[in-house]
Amino acid sequence: MTELIKTTSEIERVLSRSDRPIGFVPTMGALHDGHISLIKSSVNECKTTVVSIFVNPLQFGSNEDFEKYPRDLKSDLEVCRVNKVDYVFAPDREEMYPKKVEEHEIIAPPKELTSILCGKSRPGHFEGVATVVNKLFNIIQGDYAYFGEKDLQQLYVIRWLVKKFNLSIFVRACTTIREGNGLACSSRNKYLSKEEIGIASNLYKSLKLAKQNIRSGFFSISKAVLESLIFLSQFNEIKTEYFEARSKDDLSLVEDNVKSGFYFLLAGKVNNVRLIDNIEV
Ligand code: AMP
Repeated sequence: MTELIKTTSEIERVLSRSDRPIGFVPTMGALHDGHISLIKSSVNECKTTVVSIFVNPLQFGSNEDFEKYPRDLKSDLEVCRVNKVDYVFAPDREEMYPKKVEEHEIIAPPKELTSILCGKSRPGHFEGVATVVNKLFNIIQGDYAYFGEKDLQQLYVIRWLVKKFNLSIFVRACTTIREGNGLACSSRNKYLSKEEIGIASNLYKSLKLAKQNIRSGFFSISKAVLESLIFLSQFNEIKTEYFEARSKDDLSLVEDNVKSGFYFLLAGKVNNVRLIDNIEV
């Protein structure tokens, strides 16, 4: 049985008498196969699984899709029930931010992590993520937390958070789950038409192409990036925001002749729906 809990005091009360290890899966809801794979990992590994559903206003820019972000608690609860989640923690905004959101104390990860990739076009986003995840970690006091590699920069921010504040929680990174055509599952795919989903699958194709080109041995990183950008430029509906190679160690830039130990990461808009993806090389 999955129990829906809306208040901090109640989730703290039930978890204080729950069996450990406690696994925690933070989400913004509109659950899809990507979320389900995180839930399954937690249910496999832990005695108690908690999924949080909270669309965090702090991580959305003023020109972003906070208001129209897909919300469907009823169907999310059903997904959680089917997948044997013990508790769904779905606080409302006042529960998480009793003060005005703007007045809330913010956790600021280092610039090296927040000023690159998605951080460039989404100022304040990773500060919002770090702040809410820190609050949720403190409330849930879980043993393991599950995050998707799809949101790779977020994963590095969470690892920084855990290290910085010596949080006693293990972060588990889970592989990216994809649609049949390769497009990474995302709540924002709900904004796309069937045709746009087909077009969006070229984002992953461009990542695979870059990896293949590196593997061939004939391409430097900059040449591989250029080839992939040329590939993407044939689709008028796709506006690439960035396509970069970043070190596996800390997401810093890598030398042009490196052949492994890094990721290609991209962000692009398909008819104004912003999507991200990455591939390990
Ligand atoms: P969100 O609800 O978008 O904030 O995502 C909640 C968690 O699910 C994050 O850790 C994401 O990285 C993870 N996630 C989202 N999409 C996928 C995916 N396609 N595969 C694996 N994990 C995912």
